Amino acid sequence: MSRTNASGGPGGMPDATSAVDFSRRTLAAQAMGKVDPATRAVVMPLHVATTFIRDPDNGYSSGFSYARPDNATVREAEAVLAMLEGAEAGAMLFGSGMAAATAVFGALEPGDHVVAGTVMYWALKRWLREEMPRRGIAVDFVGTDDLDALRGAVRPGATKLVWIETPGNPLWTVTDIAAAAEIAHAAGARLAVDSTAASPFHTRPLALGADLVMHSATKILNGHSDVVAGVLAGATADPFWGRIGGIRAGSGGILGPFEAYLLMRSLRTFHLRAAAQSAGAGRLAGRLQGHPHVARVLYPGLPDDPGHAVAARQMRDGFGFMLSIRVAGGEPAAIGTAARVRLWKRATSLGGVESLIEHRASVEGPGSPCPPDLLRLSTGIEDTDDLFHDLDAALRGAHAG
Ligand SMILES: *Cc1c(COP(=O)(O)O)cnc(C)c1O
Repeated sequence: MSRTNASGGPGGMPDATSAVDFSRRTLAAQAMGKVDPATRAVVMPLHVATTFIRDPDNGYSSGFSYARPDNATVREAEAVLAMLEGAEAGAMLFGSGMAAATAVFGALEPGDHVVAGTVMYWALKRWLREEMPRRGIAVDFVGTDDLDALRGAVRPGATKLVWIETPGNPLWTVTDIAAAAEIAHAAGARLAVDSTAASPFHTRPLALGADLVMHSATKILNGHSDVVAGVLAGATADPFWGRIGGIRAGSGGILGPFEAYLLMRSLRTFHLRAAAQSAGAGRLAGRLQGHPHVARVLYPGLPDDPGHAVAARQMRDGFGFMLSIRVAGGEPAAIGTAARVRLWKRATSLGGVESLIEHRASVEGPGSPCPPDLLRLSTGIEDTDDLFHDLDAALRGAHAG
């Protein structure tokens, strides 16, 4: 695990330790080492106030005036997230991943051009298709795992944002972040990465040249399927970053303090969960690859996966908790398998400690790149043998009829 200077980030370790470099895991486990000054509590209090007392001279020396633009509990979780991503500009929490993503697109100007990936979070793709034309912004979708296609899609001077998702949901195609950053920058565009599936455990896009990182913190960052949240982390506190902040403050898109508190609690165990879930996904991918009723396993950790070489370069300590399988026997066998699982939870979303299975094509509908025989698997922290045997029985049951 790489090391970071604790004194650099917002809300860093207290003075006594600030000269020492701690690993990200250490800083996250101790929530940046913050202690409540009033009580010496090792857990910071939950700040719920919506308004704050003005100084006699009418100023706000605490830095807080009203809760829509800012909240102390949100700031604490943001400090951990900024540290995890190595984000110089810091991190901003939103009420959902979609709120975070749409704030980035909202900061563009009419006439700007956007390039986004064909394989990406379905609801965001639909939003881009519906909303961007109404704002005078053209979006082209290309397979960003193909760098020549990406190079051909950017329009120097006109393209202002390249949006990639890697690994890309639900096919887990891998885009080369460093190469995409070079292509975007050469055209005068920013590179934003939806890194939800990689998480900062495996990949730090800003260190690879990206300008912005987005996560649905609803997923493995919170990891307990009980908070909807989104986060942006920025490389540079430039006017574009400032404009995103203005959009959040103006639209009231900030995460609520209770959710921020739960997320903070989750971030303390993030490294343990991410390590276990990724190791479990890797074991499952290997065992499913040889299964008689599985036509193909989609997981960048497999040596013969088309994205493996790039993933091996830009992901560390594993390849993530998400994989998909293409079921032999087509769509009926895939739906039949999902119908028969007893341990896997048949539900949307991903990244929680409980394993989830979903037939994505029926969720995404026409126009989706997702094949109809695909089942998406989100690996939790359960025993891999239990997960495998449950899926194996369901696959066999669906095949038999
Ligand atoms: C879930 C998800 C989103 C959207 O996040 P919400 O928190 O549900 O708004 C965006 N991108 C990816 C990859 C996701 O999995």
